[in-house]
Amino acid sequence: MDSIYIPSLAKARDRTETIEFQEFLPDLPTLMPVRGQLQVSHRGNYLEVKAQAEAIITFTCHRCLQQYNERLQITPSEVIWLEEKKPDRLEPLEQEILFEELLETLSPQGEFEPATWLYEQFCLAFPSKQLCDGNCTVEEISSEERSEVSVDRRWSALDALKGQLPN
Ligand SMILES: [Zn+2]
Repeated sequence: MDSIYIPSLAKARDRTETIEFQEFLPDLPTLMPVRGQLQVSHRGNYLEVKAQAEAIITFTCHRCLQQYNERLQITPSEVIWLEEKKPDRLEPLEQEILFEELLETLSPQGEFEPATWLYEQFCLAFPSKQLCDGNCTVEEISSEERSEVSVDRRWSALDALKGQLPN
């Protein structure tokens, strides 16, 4: 996905650009290319961005550490303010810091990067508990076992000792 030069967007038809995409996004572990549509409109002092996108993302299960795939569909929208920078040109490093601090602000003379934006939107949509389809109860203790465990815990030191003794 090419980045969009904001001054060109201001001159585009309806001041809007629509991108259809089907591609892999950098840093996003997906099984297949991310598919969807993104629309960015220039509204004078801000950009209006909206998209619908679909990806099959490879997660690592928090419980069993196996990889699994999950389909994510997102329909994000965001307003990104366009703010003039100081007339003096900033050093590239300073620009980078500024961008980090003000993620939702871009220079009116700058570029909008659809791939980066989409990547961030997918990250925001990640489930907080990443678990595979639930067949990974190996590490989990059933409630019966749990009550046993709580009783037996007092003896665990003894058990450990017993294990060390020859039969
Ligand atoms: Zn799992």
